[in-house]
Amino acid sequence: MILGIHHVTALASHPQPNVDFYVGLLGLRLVKQTVNFDDPGTYHLYYGDGAGTPGTLLTFFPYGNIQKGRRGKGETTSITFQVPANSLDFWIERLSIENVPNGEEMIFGQRVVWALDPDGMRVEFEESEVETPNTYWNSSTVPVNKAIRAIKRITLAPSDGHPIGEYKTTEDTLTNLFDAKPIQQEGNRQRFQLGTSEVDIVRDDSQPRAQSSAGTIHHVAFRNANENIQQEWLQKLTEKGFHASPMMDREYFESIYFREPGGVLFEFATDGPGFLINEPEATLGTELRIPPQYESKKTQLEAILPKLNLNFTKVTA
Ligand code: ZN
Repeated sequence: MILGIHHVTALASHPQPNVDFYVGLLGLRLVKQTVNFDDPGTYHLYYGDGAGTPGTLLTFFPYGNIQKGRRGKGETTSITFQVPANSLDFWIERLSIENVPNGEEMIFGQRVVWALDPDGMRVEFEESEVETPNTYWNSSTVPVNKAIRAIKRITLAPSDGHPIGEYKTTEDTLTNLFDAKPIQQEGNRQRFQLGTSEVDIVRDDSQPRAQSSAGTIHHVAFRNANENIQQEWLQKLTEKGFHASPMMDREYFESIYFREPGGVLFEFATDGPGFLINEPEATLGTELRIPPQYESKKTQLEAILPKLNLNFTKVTA
């Protein structure tokens, strides 16, 4: 059983504006500073709740001087943060004061506020009182009654199907392979419940193909409770004709990557071992953590990676 969203990973340009936006403005915690395991001269920044709980994690590869990407078909086009009841006006004001492009719309009768991050990535905010596992970070710049709780939803814009075995489309894969439940449909948007999370699919023929670069979402990872379940999934995906990667050790979780028929890159990630394996909760994310395979290059990597300023004013409310 897939438990829901584990994390979402996106591409960014420079790391400091990314930190300023997600920690300084949105009040998330930088829960891990590490490097891109496949390209260690680049940061991999993980944001989340106070404890780095799966389902709250948004991660970035900030590549520095790269061009802006384009949202479009074949990728995840936005993420929706769950925020507490009666907090959307706070968010609109907070975004507007900082001149962050933002707006609002109604989706399935629910008020949704959207904003663009410094690289143009779309993040959304939606109120809900549904309880989610969340550890409030006491040094957050956002008060607890307004703070982001979890990544409630992702929105996908599949490209035209490239059937994989018996699965013709993204919808087909979600329903018949992942056991997601279609719960709502209106116009070209369909919503699925997948574990504790939601997946929206928006089909829009006029949308261009996505161009992967700064401001676009690279992949979305779904949660598996443990390595045994993950191993079963790897076998199942391979049997069904998906080109799945081998199980990869990401230090904080185990990963499998594969593309679905709509072209979107998916990952399965285990809940454990988690972000507390190499630093205590009190100081999560405050220092660069180099994975064992690059430990011998630590000094060189520290010299290449720009120093991050993590000093933001926490709320006292
Ligand atoms: Zn990932």
